[in-house]
Parts: sequence; C-alpha cells; structure tokens
Amino acid sequence: MDKIVLKFGGSSVADNEKLKLVAKKIIGLYDKGNQIVVIVSAQGKTTDKLIEEAYTLSSTPENREMDVLLSTGEQITIAKLSILLNEMGYKSISLTGWQAGIYTNNTNQNAIIEGIDTKRIDEELEKGKIVIIAGFQGYNENLDITTFGRGGSDTTAVAVAAALNAKNCYIFSDVDGVYTVDPNKIEEAKKLPAVSYKEMLEISSEGAKVLHGRCVEIAEKYKIPIITKSTFNNKAGTVISDIIEENTIKSIVKKEISRISIVGTGIIRNTNFIKKVIDIIIENKLEMLEFNVSESKISIDFKNEVSDKVLEQIHEEI
Ligand code: ADP
Ligand code: ASP
Ligand code: MG
Repeated sequence: MDKIVLKFGGSSVADNEKLKLVAKKIIGLYDKGNQIVVIVSAQGKTTDKLIEEAYTLSSTPENREMDVLLSTGEQITIAKLSILLNEMGYKSISLTGWQAGIYTNNTNQNAIIEGIDTKRIDEELEKGKIVIIAGFQGYNENLDITTFGRGGSDTTAVAVAAALNAKNCYIFSDVDGVYTVDPNKIEEAKKLPAVSYKEMLEISSEGAKVLHGRCVEIAEKYKIPIITKSTFNNKAGTVISDIIEENTIKSIVKKEISRISIVGTGIIRNTNFIKKVIDIIIENKLEMLEFNVSESKISIDFKNEVSDKVLEQIHEEI
C-alpha cells in the first residue's frame, strides 16, 4: 500500500462545489488502494480577510495572536472536507497542526518545522481513514500555535510527505503545473514537464508563488518528488525532482517591484540569449540598477516598474 500526500490550495477549496471536486479526486486515489493524507489551505481569500480584520483592531497586532487567528482559516477547511468525505461514505478525520505532531521553532508567523511525530497520522491511516491536516501551522515548545509564512501549506505537505516516507507529494492548485512564466499574466506561457529542485528553488525564491520556497528545500533534502497539477482538470502536471539538468532556459519571473529573473541551468553560457535580453532592455529604454548573471539565473533590477509587455518580449526569446 502506497502512502500519498495531496495538497489543495485556497482556490481549490474556496466553496462547497470545489470541495466536492476535491473529495472526488481524493476518493479516486483512495479507491486505488492508497493510504491518503490530505493537506489543505484556508478557503479562498480567508487568510487575507483575517489579516485585514486584525489590522482594523490594531496597527501592531502581536505575532503570537496573529498565528492563533490565521490558523483558524485552515481549521475550517479540514473540518468541512472531513464532514463531506464522511457523508460520501469515506471514513476521514481532520487534524490541526499540533494534532498531526508538527512541531516548530519559536518564530511566530514564519516558523520553521523542526520535526513531525507521525504517530497519530499513522494510527489513523492504519484504521483505514483518510487523514486531513491543516496546512501552514504547527506548535512550538510552549505549546503555542505557529504559522509558516504566506503560502506555507505547500511546506506542510512536503514535510509530511518526507516524515511519512510517502511515494509522492501532489500539489494541486488553479494551474496545472509550473510554466515558463506566470500563465495568469502571459498567455503564451508554456508548461514545463520537469524542473529540477535547484531550478525550482530559484523560481520560487524570485517570487513565483506556485510553490513555497521552503517546500522545495525540504523536497530536495529528502528526495521527495513533487508533482504540481490542477484541481480542475486531469492534464499531466510538472514533476519537480532530481532530474539530470540540461542546458535550457526554464522560466521567467517578475517580482512585484521591479526585478526580472530568468532561470535555467547553464544560462551563463547562453551569450546569445543574454545579448537579446540586453537589446530588449535598451529598446524599451529601461533604466537598470543591477544586472547579475550566475550559473542558473539572470536577475535584473530596474529603477522603474517593468511592464508585462517587456516580460512577454523576453519570454518570446526563451
Ligand atoms: P494555491 O492557493 O493553490 O497555493 P497559489 O496562488 O499559491 O496557489 O499558486 C498558484 C499561482 O501561482 C497561479 O495562480 C499563478 O498565477 C502563479 N504563478 C506564478 N508564476 C508561475 C509559474 N511560473 N507557473 C505557474 N504558476 C505561476
Ligand atoms: N492560508 C495561508 C495563506 O494564504 C497558507 C497557504 O495558503 O498556503 O498564505
Ligand atoms: Mg500557494
């Protein structure tokens, strides 16, 4: 029997209809004889709303209290999904971060997972239950609730997969994989069938929120393959693993302020491409602050906001 970890993000669990789609995906994999652990995020924009609400009460809410507040978002989702699965005839149980044994350091709002005691998860799996765990949260040595920073449910999923020695870790979201550029911004974006851990780390650290950076570090350390897929279709996704790296340019990321990063192993040797990027910058009369090239990344900081048109022009050259 294989253990499989599935993670569903906020947009995948936003309402009852979507929760039903999620339940069907879970059941499909459970019926194939797998032991299933599911990690979920808060529904839709719940976390944003909770943050906003806290700031209407105080301009300096305490980090500890923010963690108590924000962790409630994921707690609602686990209960709802478990109620639904039980109603559909599949035994399931919801676990908060501390019930799932996820312990962390003391850094409220940006905690690091120090270990996972999987005893309770294992016991529930042995009973044949589908285990639903709240993403993005754990507990520290004072038994206080901690959270892992925005997008942190991905990290829960990969850490749980590593602790359980799971076969795979699927990350389901509104996009069916990692693209050459944000597919919600640039129509011509192309899906990448495979990306190495190293490349994915660069892509995430430059701000492409498709995967939380820390989850990629854990996946690389424990050699857990991550498969990113869409909740809403069955298309093949992107596999992030220790693939043999080829010299191809993989992805371009635009940070909210004014940095563009282009990731791909061996990019430093692609002088033709580097020249084309510089031509595009000159042609668009952009003022550069910094231009850095390393083995696997070009990152350029600009004085002013860079338009999506520039992103599109560079993307065309990939
Ligand atoms: P979830 O809520 O399921 O965790 P996120 O919103 O955190 O999902 O991440 C998915 C989003 O990441 C997509 O909606 C997409 O706009 C964005 N994204 C940014 N860069 C990329 C990229 N290179 N490939 C795919 N998605 C990307
Ligand atoms: N709910 C948290 C957030 O919105 C964690 C997550 O979705 O991964 O950042
Ligand atoms: Mg996310």
